Amino acid sequence: MLQYTPPARDIRFSLDLVGSDELTSLQGFEHADTDTVVGLIDELGRLISDVWSPTNEVGDREGLRVDTAASTVTTPTGFRDAYQAYVQGGWGGVALDPAYGGGGFPHLTGIAMSELLQSANMALALCPMLTQGAIDALLAYGTEAQKETYLRKLVSGEWTGTMNLTEPDAGSDVGALRTKAVQAPDGTWRITGQKIYITWGEHDMADNIVHLVLARIDGAPAGTKGISCFIVPKHLPNPDGTPGARNDVRVVSTEHKMGIHASPTCVLAFGDDGDGAVGELIGELNAGMRTMFVMMNNARLAVGQQGLALAERAYQLAYDHATTRVQGRPLNGNPTDPIIGHPDVRRMLLTMRSQIEAMRHLLFLNAKAIDEARHGSTDSQRTSGQELADLLTPLSKAWCTDLGNELCSLGVQIQGGMGYCEDTGAAQLYRDVRIAAIYEGTNGIQALDLYGRKLGLRSGGVMSDLIGRMRADLSPLEAVSPDLAHRLANAIDTLETLTKWMLGPGRESAADGMAGATPYLRVVATVVGGWLMGKQAVLAASHAGSASPSHVAFANAKRATSAFYICQILTTIDGLVEQITAGAEQLFAIPVDALASR
Ligand SMILES: Cc1cc2nc3c(=O)[nH]c(=O)nc-3n(C[C@H](O)[C@H](O)[C@H](O)COP(=O)(O)OP(=O)(O)OC[C@H]3O[C@@H](n4cnc5c(N)ncnc54)[C@H](O)[C@@H]3O)c2cc1C
Repeated sequence: MLQYTPPARDIRFSLDLVGSDELTSLQGFEHADTDTVVGLIDELGRLISDVWSPTNEVGDREGLRVDTAASTVTTPTGFRDAYQAYVQGGWGGVALDPAYGGGGFPHLTGIAMSELLQSANMALALCPMLTQGAIDALLAYGTEAQKETYLRKLVSGEWTGTMNLTEPDAGSDVGALRTKAVQAPDGTWRITGQKIYITWGEHDMADNIVHLVLARIDGAPAGTKGISCFIVPKHLPNPDGTPGARNDVRVVSTEHKMGIHASPTCVLAFGDDGDGAVGELIGELNAGMRTMFVMMNNARLAVGQQGLALAERAYQLAYDHATTRVQGRPLNGNPTDPIIGHPDVRRMLLTMRSQIEAMRHLLFLNAKAIDEARHGSTDSQRTSGQELADLLTPLSKAWCTDLGNELCSLGVQIQGGMGYCEDTGAAQLYRDVRIAAIYEGTNGIQALDLYGRKLGLRSGGVMSDLIGRMRADLSPLEAVSPDLAHRLANAIDTLETLTKWMLGPGRESAADGMAGATPYLRVVATVVGGWLMGKQAVLAASHAGSASPSHVAFANAKRATSAFYICQILTTIDGLVEQITAGAEQLFAIPVDALASR
């Protein structure tokens, strides 16, 4: 089976495109120039290709072993070693706070690095991904004592983190959760209840697991306004920081899933054996959603990246197959030429490749905005960074995971029957990526977030700033290609018209706005992708005069994929206009029972 090769050159290009070097002007990031970041990615790439990538297929095949009596989950062969190699290399802490043992690199560096982990083994990469979310929540809302107890161990990766929201009757509607918290005389809390679908909720790769758990106290207001967040460790830490007595958290079962077989998706019981699992409140009472949102926003970007990462690996497999499989004589070719000579195979490859590039640019831009929000040198830089990050996060999550699904499917298609069989790895990627559009807030919920919350930020001002920024970049593109600039300008006009509709008629009738939310998100993201691919064409043109033939070939390929995206992907937004503005009437034209199959 073909192993994964980190696309280091493409990653570098995306870092340059979003202006990664600008972050070196922010306090604390002086050392994080792009050359240094790329050096780190190269080094991590060796561990990832040699150690992580081969565990992907093993994990899928072997899955997990659960012993509910002992409350243990045994991970597949090689997982513990792969995870330990990552911890011992200090990789988990590179983009984290130096005060707790991190390397002090920007979030953008962390996102660029985590693409490699997700491509190599998404099931395994979920473990450090959730740990990172727990770290961010602790940094934002933990007390000094909580930070001292937990952060160093989480930053080093010796302990791992989880997020516990979902219950049988509380999925998208988190506010319906029933897990209870009661205060003990010593001020700590006792948690009772059951959580489902908890990723890496139990495992054998680390000494302790730090669960962040949403629960309700007696008398709390209904819905999300009455939820508090608690730190519930698997082992209660001893005063010297080592893991102590086992807490009353048990794994009841793990789910049998379509994909990510090696990621333990656990049903966890809290407090089954006594008064409750011991927990500490993090943040204020009844303000748990605020804490959890830090974790969720972080995870939404990372889940979006799973879409990109699996599409990238699917592309590597598809390209390899298309350049070696001989079938039918390509037009103007020889009988021994491979299928990459057929126009339809080229169409599929370019559809994959151009959108992979656009996704990477979007995710990196989103991560850079987060760095500016957290570390900007002025109030205005921090505010505009936060606004942009808020607006882009639902796009990163939903668009990149929808595309991840579509492109992994194309990856299978390019390989024909071989793609459908398990031998090449394409089928696993297709199964694994499916969940990314569902968890961390389904993509339908992301579209409602864009429509209901993000579009209204500063009364539509944040969106209109983004549109202004896209228009400002038309003139350099015009100098490189008037045709591409013209097409992009048209798409931006369409986006502006549709945005006015969503903020006007789409607000007057919430049902109409909600009915158009998903195709609207697709349009926004596709146009943002078009803008970034326009910037790609401009950046590539500046490389075209290079003395190095390999640089010139690389730049030419980038110009070609930009042109393909702007001419053949961006134009698909026109077909969505009706879907966005049609309103809800047709959706509700017939009663529920008339929708039943007959
Ligand atoms: C493999 C896996 C790992 C997971 N990991 C975790 C984890 O670590 N921690 C955790 O807490 N949870 C986790 N989850 C849970 C996951 O986040 C939920 O499954 C997800 O949020 C959807 O909830 P649900 O499954 O109850 O679906 P539902 O909420 O029942 O949704 C079903 C459908 O209805 C739609 N829908 C629901 N409400 C609305 C609405 N208001 N408007 C429009 N459409 C709506 C949804 O978009 C979806 O299409 C995981 C799930 C899986 C399968």
